[in-house]
Amino acid sequence: MDCYDVAIIGLGPAGATLARLLSEKLRVIALDKKRASGSEGFQKPCGGLLAPDAQRAFIRFGLNLPTSVIANPQIFSVKTLDTQTGITCNYQRSYININRHAFDLWMKSLVPERVEVHHDTLCKRLERTDEGYHVTFVEDGEEKRIHARYLVGADGANSMVRRYLYPRHEIRRYQAIQQWFEDKHPVPFYSCLFDNDVTDCYAWSISKDGYFIFGGAFPMKEGRERYDMLKEKVELHRFTFGTALKSEKCTVLCPSGWRDFVCGKDDAFLIGEAAGFISASSLEGISYALDSAELLSRILNKGGTSLNPSYRKSTFRLRLKLLSKVFKARILTTPWLRKLIMKSRISHIEQASAR
Ligand SMILES: Cc1cc2nc3c(=O)[nH]c(=O)nc-3n(C[C@H](O)[C@H](O)[C@H](O)COP(=O)(O)OP(=O)(O)OC[C@H]3O[C@@H](n4cnc5c(N)ncnc54)[C@H](O)[C@@H]3O)c2cc1C
Repeated sequence: MDCYDVAIIGLGPAGATLARLLSEKLRVIALDKKRASGSEGFQKPCGGLLAPDAQRAFIRFGLNLPTSVIANPQIFSVKTLDTQTGITCNYQRSYININRHAFDLWMKSLVPERVEVHHDTLCKRLERTDEGYHVTFVEDGEEKRIHARYLVGADGANSMVRRYLYPRHEIRRYQAIQQWFEDKHPVPFYSCLFDNDVTDCYAWSISKDGYFIFGGAFPMKEGRERYDMLKEKVELHRFTFGTALKSEKCTVLCPSGWRDFVCGKDDAFLIGEAAGFISASSLEGISYALDSAELLSRILNKGGTSLNPSYRKSTFRLRLKLLSKVFKARILTTPWLRKLIMKSRISHIEQASAR
């Protein structure tokens, strides 16, 4: 059986960043469901907006985004609509509008050749051994097994590493549903939608490369019914749909307290959304994926003992920030508080012509 220092499960923004930053002294294997290139195979459903914190991570990494991952147009505000009260506000936001799949493939392309990457591969089983982990995966229909001293779960919302390490741990999760339409709006826009009759989380729309993406995070039961209900409601607010060209669905985590952030144990580590590192108020997770991967790379590169406590300690500020998003989400999803904030017009920018 082949032996490695580190096995990374998942090469989304978190796993790809870790694989890129790990020292050449470490023998690293990385397994990922996505293919190496092209539009076939697994694609992560996403809004594809890069928040300022993610942009800051790229400054630290000394990386620039290639234009091939940038979507059209770049939009500077988010129209925030409370469908229960009908109040609308425009808030300035500095997101970069990207093509998420192109972004993921680009991030994977930055992984150095010294890392053994297995694309289009599914990790199936994990077993703890005296000195690390056995990892069983399926590649080209063939089952293979390797051994690694350290295991890293960078496998997103449905993380099997998280489930293996914390089988009894429950975290709040929603069904994220998105549909893509031809964009027929006179001016492309982003929106953020609140409606407590439909979901206690939130919904969104994004104009991207001629498409209009409409999505939301809904309770796991009746997700689709609630999605359709919201679509009907927002049509009254001049949202235009037509025929859906693509429908996507996946789980999205939404931490509701400190205990929802789990960093790993027993020489296994969790980064990105697998660790619960996602904003409860905006469901923005790319920046936390990048940040947690960077923090773990420092710990693994340094080596030594007590790596789990060191990683946990290093993520303290990140977890604190995510906890503040939990409180922010509670405010934004409480109808009377939201109404108060939106009615105050604080930070609202009036638009010359109503959409
Ligand atoms: C609908 C939706 C919209 C979102 N919009 C935004 C947004 O606009 N901006 C933002 O910042 N965040 C957004 N998020 C959150 C963001 O997508 C995630 O937080 C982010 O992708 C987490 O990165 P990650 O690397 O931890 O996990 P992921 O991006 O989920 O990557 C995990 C990877 O692991 C691989 N994998 C999983 N299981 C296995 C397995 N068993 N074997 C092998 N490989 C495996 C998959 O290939 C996957 O690509 C959105 C989420 C959803 C659901």
